[in-house]
Amino acid sequence: ASSRQRKPSWLRARAPGGAGFRQVREIVSGHGLHTVCEESYCPNMGECWSHGTATFMVLGSVCTRACQFCSVDTGNPRGRVEEDEPQRIAESVQLMGLQYAVITSVNRDDLSDGGAAHYAACVDRVKQLNPETAIEVLTPDFNGEEQDIAVVARSGLEVFAHNLETVRRLTPEVRDRRADYLQSLEVLAAAKRANGNILTKSSLMVGLGEEEEEIVSALEDMRRYDVDIATLGQYLQPTRNHLPVQRYYSPQELNSLRETGLQLGFREVVAGPLVRSSYRAERVMEQNNVG
Ligand code: SF4
Ligand code: SF4
Repeated sequence: ASSRQRKPSWLRARAPGGAGFRQVREIVSGHGLHTVCEESYCPNMGECWSHGTATFMVLGSVCTRACQFCSVDTGNPRGRVEEDEPQRIAESVQLMGLQYAVITSVNRDDLSDGGAAHYAACVDRVKQLNPETAIEVLTPDFNGEEQDIAVVARSGLEVFAHNLETVRRLTPEVRDRRADYLQSLEVLAAAKRANGNILTKSSLMVGLGEEEEEIVSALEDMRRYDVDIATLGQYLQPTRNHLPVQRYYSPQELNSLRETGLQLGFREVVAGPLVRSSYRAERVMEQNNVG
C-alpha cells in the first residue's frame, strides 16, 4: 500500500548543472558514448560528473537474468562481445578527464567466463591510457567461479564491487533465481583472495520490505567476508511491473544505518536516499589514499 504514497520531498532530484557537467556532457554526446549515468537517468549525474566520476556499461544492454527490481532488458546476447569496447571506454575516460571510472555490466551467463576476460581487457586498456585514473568494477556473480573472479580482481583495478542488493530473506524474490546471497558474499571474498591489495565494496537497496535488523545483519555478513565499503540507497520502482516500494527511509534513518555500519568496521559507508553504488566513489577513495 505504501507504494502508492507520494514520494517524499528528499527524493526530488536536483537538475544537473554546472560548467563541469555541461563540458563532460558535450564530450560524451559528441563522441557517441554511453554511460549508465545517462541511460538510467541517475539523479546524481550532475554531482558525479562535476567530480570526475562516471559509470560505463560494457558487454551490451541485454541481460541473461531478470531481477525483479531492474529495468534492463532480459534476453540472450548469444555470445556477442564488442572487441573494440576496451579501447572505446579508455578513450572515453580520457576525453572526459575522469579521475574515477566505474565499469559495470549486465550478467552474461551466455559467455563461458561470464565476461571476465572482457572486464580485464577494459581495465587494462583504461589504465594504459589513463594511468592516474582509479578504476572500480561492479560485476555480476560469475556464478561464483573463482577463476573468473580472479581474472578480474588481478586486472589492475582499485575497487572490486559486487552487490548483495537486498537482505538474505528477500534475495529469492528480489534477485534473479540464479543469484544467491551467500554466493555473492563468496564472490567478494574470492576477489580479495585473488588480490589482497584491492578494496571490496557492496551495495544494498532499502525499502523492499526488509526489517532494519535484517539490514544490519547484511552489513555484519559483509564485514565477515571482509568487505571494505558499503553503500545503502532507497529502492525506487522503475516501472509498474517491478517490485513496489514498501517503505521510504528518511535521510536520518539512513544516516543512523551508516553510523551502525561504521561501527562494524567498514572503511566507509555511503548512505542516503539517492545513493547509488558508484555515488561519491571518488571521495571514498581520496579519504583512503587509494588510487
Ligand atoms: Fe553515474 Fe553512478 Fe554517479 Fe549515478 S551515482 S551519476 S550512475 S557514477
Ligand atoms: Fe539487472 Fe544486473 Fe539483475 Fe541483470 S543481473 S537483471 S542487469 S540487476
